[in-house]
Amino acid sequence: MNIAIVGSGYVGLVTGACLARLGNKVICVDNNQKKILGLRKGIVPIYEPGLKELIKDNVKRKRLFFSSSIKEAVGKSEVIFIAVGTPDSGSGEADLTGIEKVSCDIASNLKGYRLIVEKSTVPVETGDWVKRTISAYAKNKQNFDVASNPEFLREGSAISDFLQPDRIVIGVESDKARDILLKLYKPLNAPIVVTNIKSAELIKHASNAFLATKISFINAVSRICDTVGADIKEVERGMGLDKRIGKDFLNAGLGYGGSCFPKDLDAFVSIADKLGYDFRLLKEVKRINEHQKEVVIAKIKDSLWIIKGKTIGILGLAFKPNTDDIRNAPALDLIKSLQNEGAYIKAFDPKSLKKSKALLKSIKLCKDPYEAVSGCDCLLIATDWDEFKKLDLMKIKKLLNRPFLVDCRNIYDPKKMLKLGFNYVGIGRRAV
Ligand code: NAD
Repeated sequence: MNIAIVGSGYVGLVTGACLARLGNKVICVDNNQKKILGLRKGIVPIYEPGLKELIKDNVKRKRLFFSSSIKEAVGKSEVIFIAVGTPDSGSGEADLTGIEKVSCDIASNLKGYRLIVEKSTVPVETGDWVKRTISAYAKNKQNFDVASNPEFLREGSAISDFLQPDRIVIGVESDKARDILLKLYKPLNAPIVVTNIKSAELIKHASNAFLATKISFINAVSRICDTVGADIKEVERGMGLDKRIGKDFLNAGLGYGGSCFPKDLDAFVSIADKLGYDFRLLKEVKRINEHQKEVVIAKIKDSLWIIKGKTIGILGLAFKPNTDDIRNAPALDLIKSLQNEGAYIKAFDPKSLKKSKALLKSIKLCKDPYEAVSGCDCLLIATDWDEFKKLDLMKIKKLLNRPFLVDCRNIYDPKKMLKLGFNYVGIGRRAV
């Protein structure tokens, strides 16, 4: 099929490259001309494992193209995915100006049947608005369908998530739209859930909100573990082996972050409010998540006493491993709080140093973990990158001013850390 993807970010590029790999001819569009010029030269603006190679291969096979012209993309493509950002507007509501702009741009270039697919995460009823907007701005009466096909990929494993999904959700209102999307996704051989557009939109918000709830739930349980001396890792395992619960997203830590969960949760609460339902459960999920950073600061104070004037080393800035994405990363909130208390911060992250440099002006970014640790009064593990699990802990101990380590991702064994001579503090677990 001939396909256009409007918005060439984490979702747009992965979707474009993967659909090209399935044999389609794909044009990825973006209004950021610099990004498009770079992509044409093989410069991939984000780090996602395997993406650079996949893009290169499909460009070579003449299945993947980049353009800043929606006109060109709409002219050449039967299916047009909208994958622009839907950030928080500031009030919790999703900012849908990008979706509206793209809908208008598509409308003014429509000639002949097109299927317009929402890939971005949007509040329920956005599909209706997209339809109305396209009808209002199309020059003549046009033949088109709108569909919803929310994306569930995770940064860090986006390509395999896209190519081997647990399920694909397609929300449609015509047989034609359904058949096109079923044909497009047939090669993936994945379970496909066909719904109406509103249900598909809701499935995405409800899924993210549910996962965030799981994270806040286990973080709340970790508070009890801290109090009584139980081990949250044992509790997680004991709960997670129950198939009805499942072990994924049952890891106590710094709380959720990133470009999706915080804003999607807010947007879900906000649309629920608008529709007359006070989603208090999700408001509490958010409160627990925010409190989790304060829990860590309190743990630091418990050992350091005074934070002012202390040097704190932070390993991990990205909101999760295997990505360079620092949008809403919990590490950034921690840094802000520690700086407000007067700490001096040194930090290292395997992939996000470039992005962090632009955002974090007043911290020392280091070229390797050992440099970040050297001369620190406290070391914080903020992201569970695999390489942090393999550090030379004796070397770390020697480099620290005092062997105090706060493991915000529970990657080390408290007993082993105690044996090595660390003052080790985890989340919901400690060495005894
Ligand atoms: P992103 O910020 O990485 O990419 C969005 C891209 O859209 C940018 O390159 C931007 O320049 C471009 N853009 C904005 N307005 C445009 C316009 N009018 N015309 C053309 N291009 C335009 O965002 P993302 O992380 O890829 O997320 C996109 C959507 O997918 C969001 O709704 C997000 O919630 C959802 N989503 C994201 C993930 C994820 O892990 N990042 C996963 C599932 C769903």
